[in-house]
Amino acid sequence: MNLFIQYQRAASLLFLFVFIAGCGDSGKEHFTLAGSTMGTTYHITVLEREGIKSNQQELQQAIDQQLLLINQQMSTYQDDSELSKFNRALVGEWVNVSANLFDILVMSMELSWLTGGAFDITVGPLVNLWGFGPDGLDMPSTVPDAGNIKALLEQSGFQAIELALDDNSIRKTKPVILDLSAIAKGYGVDKVAELLLYAGYTDFMVEIGGELRLAGNSPRGTPWRIAIEQPDANAFGQSNKAVQVSGVSIATSGDYRNYFEQDGKRYSHTIDPTTGYPTDHSLASITVIADSSAYADGLATALNVLGPEKALQLAEQQGLAIYMLVKTEQGFAAQYSEAFKPYLQ
Ligand code: ADP
Ligand code: MG
Repeated sequence: MNLFIQYQRAASLLFLFVFIAGCGDSGKEHFTLAGSTMGTTYHITVLEREGIKSNQQELQQAIDQQLLLINQQMSTYQDDSELSKFNRALVGEWVNVSANLFDILVMSMELSWLTGGAFDITVGPLVNLWGFGPDGLDMPSTVPDAGNIKALLEQSGFQAIELALDDNSIRKTKPVILDLSAIAKGYGVDKVAELLLYAGYTDFMVEIGGELRLAGNSPRGTPWRIAIEQPDANAFGQSNKAVQVSGVSIATSGDYRNYFEQDGKRYSHTIDPTTGYPTDHSLASITVIADSSAYADGLATALNVLGPEKALQLAEQQGLAIYMLVKTEQGFAAQYSEAFKPYLQ
């Protein structure tokens, strides 16, 4: 089993339409596929289309193959993955990589520059030290030694990754270790969506570990209704707000699913690359809507690092659609960007 994340889901979204087996009075003919990948589960709903004779078994095989391939390229839970091999490569050595791995690295760098380094795929060793990475299951859930944090922080930094656009090769100029867990699930969603589009489907939902991409209509015959979860560890599956979406991806990042507590303080799996410590602010969850799922996934993590004020500022400046739930004494207060407004009903 190849794992990207150690738990079922990180922060998440809920899909709100009623599952109607096959076709009912109100439901369009559709089928669902489910399975596991990247240490979590996937769920896919596809509306039938006239003229397309789908062999669901073949479709599922193609999807599983695609996801296995992505794992083989990007997993840090798999020693022989392309990424793990690069992580063992020497400083300065150019390594030729697959188009998929190269693409996701380009997007990761874009997100790093956009967010002033809040997104940084070299924080893997720190994620591990805090007990949230591949070695996490063997790690105690306690605050690590400050000296160890500082040492790993000095060894990190996305600026040490160089990409050669002419021949898909990469190298590091410092002994950094790359971890794509914050963006790979979204990338998997995009690849599955591409496969469905290629097979001729126009209406579907693809979800991997809470990352979603929606196309066309839901079985209700209307755009997809997605619920943003109440960011409360004890309120599993309770909805805070519903949004109506189509032709986009949606991702949520938060501190309420994957964390530990020590001396009354919460330490979550999102690491601030400037301090080496988990993010520490009033943002309980942030939901991002964007075209690509990889981008939404990565951006949600990055903006979660920035915190509510800086995230909103960047969102307004760049026209990003974000919805945040900020902790207050009364509960959670919603704050959202101009670009998110059209999705609220
Ligand atoms: P969430 O939905 O809460 O953002 P994800 O699974 O998408 O959860 O991303 C969290 C994972 O991203 C962590 O487990 C860690 O491996 C990685 N990560 C943590 N902090 C950062 C960061 N600042 N930049 C990039 N990746 C990070
Ligand atoms: Mg993410």
